[in-house]
Formats: sequence, C-alpha cells, structure tokens
Amino acid sequence: MRASEMTWQEYRDCIATSIIFLPVGAMEQHGPHLPLSVDMILPARMSELAAEQVGGIVLPTIPYGYKSQPTSGGGQRFPGTTSLNGNTLINVVLDILRETYRHGGRRFVVYNGHYENAMFLTEAIDLFVSAAPDARVMLLDETLLISDEMLDELFADCGFPGWDLEHAAVIETSLMQYFAPELVREDRIVDGQIKREMPYAIFPPPDDVIPESGVLYKATFASREKGEKYVKHVLPKIVEVVRRELGV
Ligand code: ZN
Ligand code: MN
Repeated sequence: MRASEMTWQEYRDCIATSIIFLPVGAMEQHGPHLPLSVDMILPARMSELAAEQVGGIVLPTIPYGYKSQPTSGGGQRFPGTTSLNGNTLINVVLDILRETYRHGGRRFVVYNGHYENAMFLTEAIDLFVSAAPDARVMLLDETLLISDEMLDELFADCGFPGWDLEHAAVIETSLMQYFAPELVREDRIVDGQIKREMPYAIFPPPDDVIPESGVLYKATFASREKGEKYVKHVLPKIVEVVRRELGV
C-alpha cells in the first residue's frame, strides 16, 4: 500500500485504478513532550488506515509545510520548526501531483496534517486540475469530519478551544499516545496557553503571543483512550467521503 515500498511494476499495475493518498505534514515544534514529526506521523497513519479500506496507495509524506503561526503552532521562533515558503510548498505538491498523474494516477486525496498548509494546498490542487481535467482531488482535513457530539465527549473535562489552539494539546497528544507511544515523553506533558489572544496578527510576532512551552492548550487532558476514540470515530467517515466523492 505504501508506494515507496512497491517495485515499479507493482506501482505501474495499480496506480491508474487506485485512490492515491498524499499526506502533507510539517517539521514543527510540538511542546516538550512530542517530537517535531507529529504533523507528518498523524496524516501518514490516518492515510494508511483509510487506504487499507479503500484499496488505496499512500505516497511518501511531504515532511515540510508552510510557516508555523504563533496562534496555531507556536510560530517560527522554536528551534526545529523548519518551514517552506508558500510558493515552495505549492510547487512541491504540484510537482508530485503532476508526476503521479503522468504515471496514470487520476484520483487523489491530499491529506493535510498541518493547519497552516490549507490554502497553499488548495492553490496547488487548483493549478493541477486546471491542466488535468480528468483528475479528481479531495483536499482532506479530518478534523472537519468530527461531529459536535464527539467533540463534546472528547473535551468534556476541559472544554474545546477551537482547532487552531489544539496544537500539541489534547488531540495531537492523545493520537501520538495511540499511534506512537514510544515517541511521547510522558513525564514532560504540560498545559500551555497563549499569553495574549489577538483577533489579528502582528508581524513580527510580539514576544507575549509566543507560548513558552510550545503547547497551546491543555495537553495533560490527553489519553490513549481519547486517541483511540477519535480514530474509531473519524476513520469510517473518511472512508465514506472518499468512497462517495472518488468512487471506489
Ligand atoms: Zn500538529
Ligand atoms: Mn502543525
């Protein structure tokens, strides 16, 4: 199912008929308790689980994303947060879609794992399909598929802060505890918050909007059980929308 582990003949024989997942991540700080690769690992694992069910192929994850913003990822000041310019990201995604199309790929799911990537992925996909009219691409951010009831349940004990502030916090920590517990520093989980909320952005960002730990909300409310519950809730929804829109 992973394209990179296929031979070229195996790839050739299934690329035209398969749903092709392209996970797009980021190399970004995720607090003192999570690795820089959270935004790569989560979309890759979710893509693999979904691909398994729809007979899909998963392309290698794009490990870098658009610049981290203070109120959704802590911003660019953290060592390790390594980002692309918007044009670079657009061109990387566009090149990969075009190459895969040249091999025969027609149906794609671009699976976004990093909040700040969204409009750059939209642009890459729009440029791609305008020159490939028989291609069909879904841009997927699974958080938008979570029902209000499930949100109420997952955040019953601490309240839902909004997806932008949910960085290195309840859901990402819970999902890492579920998918990759060996990468979670359990003894370093902390609650964090933005010191000053601004209904606008200032460039360069003032010191007091950068969260000290890199955690934007209450990571201590995370658990492996919440991670499992989240995946079991959202995976069937992903499979359903992929089947409906891309026809499997
Ligand atoms: Zn993240
Ligand atoms: Mn991110």
